[in-house]
Amino acid sequence: MNRNLSLITPSGRLTLGNFLGAFRGMVASVQAGEDCFYGVSDLHAMTTAHDPRVLRDTIAEVTTLFLAVGLDPARAVLFRQSQVAAHRELAYLLECTAYTGELGRMIQYKEKGRDNPSTRASVYTYPVLMAADILLYRPTRVPVGDDQRQHVELTRDLAVRFNNAYGPVFTVPEVATPSAGARVMDLQDPTRKMSKSAAPGADTGVIRLLDPPDVIRRKVARAVTDSDTGPGAVRSSSDKPGVSNLLDILAACGGTSSGITTYGALKAAVTDAVVAELEPVQKRYADLAADPAYVTAVFAAGAERCREVTAPVLAAAEAAIGLR
Ligand code: ATP
Ligand code: MG
Repeated sequence: MNRNLSLITPSGRLTLGNFLGAFRGMVASVQAGEDCFYGVSDLHAMTTAHDPRVLRDTIAEVTTLFLAVGLDPARAVLFRQSQVAAHRELAYLLECTAYTGELGRMIQYKEKGRDNPSTRASVYTYPVLMAADILLYRPTRVPVGDDQRQHVELTRDLAVRFNNAYGPVFTVPEVATPSAGARVMDLQDPTRKMSKSAAPGADTGVIRLLDPPDVIRRKVARAVTDSDTGPGAVRSSSDKPGVSNLLDILAACGGTSSGITTYGALKAAVTDAVVAELEPVQKRYADLAADPAYVTAVFAAGAERCREVTAPVLAAAEAAIGLR
């Protein structure tokens, strides 16, 4: 059985996109009895200027949300990357395997940092940490979206190079294309994906999982549609990305557009559906937030389990490379 491994970086407060595009599938895999390791990749949240207090708060929110969305800690291993030291330890061995040429070709580095001398070195090296994140758990398939494909290709290259040089330590994972899930677009710029790292204050197009109902209502009310307000406007949505997005969100949240003809009615229906979908999550979040020691204990136990699972892989890599 393939092991499901998913990491979510606490680079911002989680969104409706993260919920529909990631958490739903994660919860379904757990409920189907699959082997699931789900992590909060907190080390990946420090590649750009960050405020430690904000990071701490975001980690607390994301870990609590893992439980609030319904991931059952009795059936899935929930962990924080920083609490499993093997991730950092293997990353260094893989840095001694990676070439500067291939890291310099990573799209995110080229786009986000290469030409700026005060770019953090971690922008350059984090794909290697990501390779460690994956290889430690020996998944045979890694489903990733297009933006992460290059990183999994690098992971494969490093695994193969290490195995050829030092012996067969790593399982080389296949890159799998995930089944087309919901892709939620920004309400203000529906040609762009809704993204958690949108700056607070410039995020009117981003629905956060913990936005209260009145905030959700306001953001949806301001969503871009188009200027065609005539009868039938809602139905001819194919060339109107903002309208398509609202219809997709409505359907993904269990609502129906039948009988809806105006944008006003559509937005009201979207608001109701999203608020209803998030209400149980927000209610569980409030209960869990009142008991942070429970959340901490769940993630401590998860980290312990991860240490057991990853220790043999790290030890084998250390032995092969000449450290043991
Ligand atoms: P960032 O801005 O930091 O990249 P993000 O919101 O794009 O944040 P990721 O950390 O890149 O989130 O991805 C976490 C998970 O959420 C992935 O499984 C990704 O496919 C999913 N996801 C992110 N944004 C969306 C979206 N708008 N619609 C559907 N799924 C999404
Ligand atoms: Mg992203």
